[in-house]
Amino acid sequence: MKLNKLTPVEESVIIKKGTEPAYTGKYENFFQNGIYVCRQCGASLYKSASKFHSGCGWPSFDDEIAGSVARQADKDGIRTEILCSVCGGHLGHVFEGEGFTPKNSRHCVNSVSLDFIPEQKK
Ligand SMILES: [Zn+2]
Repeated sequence: MKLNKLTPVEESVIIKKGTEPAYTGKYENFFQNGIYVCRQCGASLYKSASKFHSGCGWPSFDDEIAGSVARQADKDGIRTEILCSVCGGHLGHVFEGEGFTPKNSRHCVNSVSLDFIPEQKK
C-alpha cells in the first residue's frame, strides 16, 4: 500500500484522530460530481451522490461505497468513529437516526481526510 505523505494538519486528523474546525473544510460547501477518496491511501470512500448539506460544519454523506469505511467505538464511549478500511486513517464519525435523508445516516467527515476526483466527462 502506497501512502501519501501527510501535512502536519492532515496528520493531526488522519493519524491523531483530531477534528478540523467546523465550517472551515474545503469540501463542506462543495457539490461537484465525482468520488471522494482517502487522502492518505487513495481508496474510494464516498460518491458525490451520497453527499448532502447537513449544516453541521463538515462534509456529510448518507452512505459509503460498500466496504470502504470501517466503524469502531470512539474512545469517548459515545460516538462511532469511522476509518478508511484500507489504511485505517481517521475520517470522522457516523451518526444514525437524525432524519437528514431517507437513509437516516450521517457520515461526518473531515475535509482534510479526503481528496476529490471529478467525474470524467464522457
Ligand atoms: Zn485510506
